[in-house]
Amino acid sequence: PNERVLSIQLVPFDSTRKLLLSRDITQLERVQTVHRDFVANVSHELRTPLTVVGGFLETIQDMGADDPAMIRQFLPMMMEQSRRMQSLVEDLLILSRLENSPKNLVSEKVDMRDMLDTLMVEAEGLSQGRHVIRMDPVTPLWLWGNAAELHSAFGNLVSNAVRYTPEGGTITLSWREEGDKLVFSVSDTGIGIPREHIPRLTERFYRVDRGRSRGNGGTGLGLAIVKHIVARHQARLDIVSEPEKGSTFSVVFGGEHRAEPDHDPRAEEA
Ligand code: ADP
Repeated sequence: PNERVLSIQLVPFDSTRKLLLSRDITQLERVQTVHRDFVANVSHELRTPLTVVGGFLETIQDMGADDPAMIRQFLPMMMEQSRRMQSLVEDLLILSRLENSPKNLVSEKVDMRDMLDTLMVEAEGLSQGRHVIRMDPVTPLWLWGNAAELHSAFGNLVSNAVRYTPEGGTITLSWREEGDKLVFSVSDTGIGIPREHIPRLTERFYRVDRGRSRGNGGTGLGLAIVKHIVARHQARLDIVSEPEKGSTFSVVFGGEHRAEPDHDPRAEEA
């Protein structure tokens, strides 16, 4: 990993002399390797569902075109694979938009009570009553950031908590002050993550358990998306986890993200 890659070139300098140019292309090589791995991963992720759908279609064409029972049996499986491809392509588009969007973030005052209410509803929808979903009191109310991006990041953490927590587990959303920091966190009582995997979780397509993650609708890109959005807000992602006990994913914002309540209609109602 510490090897350097040099590119050496001999170029004409004048009519009699040549110049030896040496360039350190270690970083360029690294970027190209990451890019190649990424393309290989995407191709692989798309090929699997395509092969499954293709296989079912072929079987129907060969022996079941007049067999409604067979078609009915295959349809849900084909739909599931098609949904999988759709989520993957959607996550790829989100990532590519994030990577290509300007560095300076379009920020606004985000109402965190609305945000957490929305996330609660989404968590209930994903959980379908299989988990207990809780929310700690929300305070302070306002965060300075990009609402759409933050919703996407927090939503990914919530969806992971639901997907990696067995039935009967508890998921807790929280938004709070910690010293001069502002912290959003999602805790679950799920399967947890062995320590050695934690540093790599935000890599694209990195998974602790490939089979389990694909089977439950994961694209392998969720935490890569979270990482981008967190970085765009100069925030930090903390992961604390213990196998079989559960995990807490926290997004920690600096105090400069605190937005002052200039006008809060609900304060007047109260
Ligand atoms: P995936 O679509 O596979 O969930 P992510 O990027 O969202 O992709 O997460 C990467 C990996 O991190 C997952 O495959 C899973 O192994 C692990 N992981 C993420 N969130 C949790 C969680 N709340 N509990 C346990 N493992 C998790």
